[in-house]
Amino acid sequence: MNNDLTFSQMPLDRASTLRKDQTWMQDKLSSEDSCFYFFWRGKFLYYQQKLAVYTRKNGINSAREVNYADVFTELSQTSDAVFLGTSADIAYFVCDLSIMNDDEIAGWLKKLNIDNSKFIDFRRSLSLLSPSQAAILSYGKALIHWQQSALHCGYCGAKTKALDGGHRRVCLCENCQKEHFPRTDPAVIMLVEYQPKFGPAVCLLAEHHRTPEQAFSTLAGFVDPGESLQEAVAREVLEEAGVQVNNVRYVDSQPWPFPNSLMVGFIAQASSLDLCLEEEELRSAAWFTAEQLMNFKDWGDDAAGPKLPRKESIARLLIDTWCKSQFEANAKTEKMAVEVKTALLASS
Ligand SMILES: [Zn+2]
Repeated sequence: MNNDLTFSQMPLDRASTLRKDQTWMQDKLSSEDSCFYFFWRGKFLYYQQKLAVYTRKNGINSAREVNYADVFTELSQTSDAVFLGTSADIAYFVCDLSIMNDDEIAGWLKKLNIDNSKFIDFRRSLSLLSPSQAAILSYGKALIHWQQSALHCGYCGAKTKALDGGHRRVCLCENCQKEHFPRTDPAVIMLVEYQPKFGPAVCLLAEHHRTPEQAFSTLAGFVDPGESLQEAVAREVLEEAGVQVNNVRYVDSQPWPFPNSLMVGFIAQASSLDLCLEEEELRSAAWFTAEQLMNFKDWGDDAAGPKLPRKESIARLLIDTWCKSQFEANAKTEKMAVEVKTALLASS
């Protein structure tokens, strides 16, 4: 497991048993030490370029001189606050303000009466966050996305009510009363490699229509119902690139809150180099050696030429992991060659 993957370093105890205790949850919601983040339509609140954290005791980011209690109470936040977990017995919540329109949210921000407070898109604000904060917010974002899509029962259409700090919803129709739980959509992402009889191994990377030209990445796709992860890998690679794979090996996984996926990463072995691309999905695809990939530019680099995926993505981890293994294998081969040569010289 690679603990450096973005969104994978959750520091909070999810307290999945305690959050079912309504009395405990009410205590935490009203505690002056509990911490609240604010979310509005895909964005979190920042104060002076730092993630804004509200406590009843200290206001936002310990700006004690301003009294925020009224501003917070006005939100009637309790029904919308989603519980995230605890750290050193302090509870963390995220409040979804998305119900407010543009004018209402502008008015709410004005009431905060602090300079440099604004909502910033989650993905664009990643550089302002520590790995722990990114993991907490990604969890909050995924939970809120589920809450927003589960306001009505999928069975009878009646309204639902949030329970367990926003981790369960129950249909309010007396005849139905179905329970609904947060959903995660599994997706597989795979680096396909090919080892020729002679010469260096190569891996398959593709340009997807949804990304800028010359941005190369691994193949990926959602898991179908009734399908194992390995079967999904084999199907997706065959569908998108026309390549048969075997020896599918798990590498790592990453929560991907855009909106609520779990990316499960693999390396798979191709049986041939022949490609037959699904043109609706891919602009191009090609095989690259590890050495060629070393000359690729980073994501976001304005210079011309092929680029690697974003550093926070599991696609990039798969590529980096594979390149590292190739260089290690080469170093081992070279070392063995030197040893053999030395042994031959010594015996002659
Ligand atoms: Zn229902």
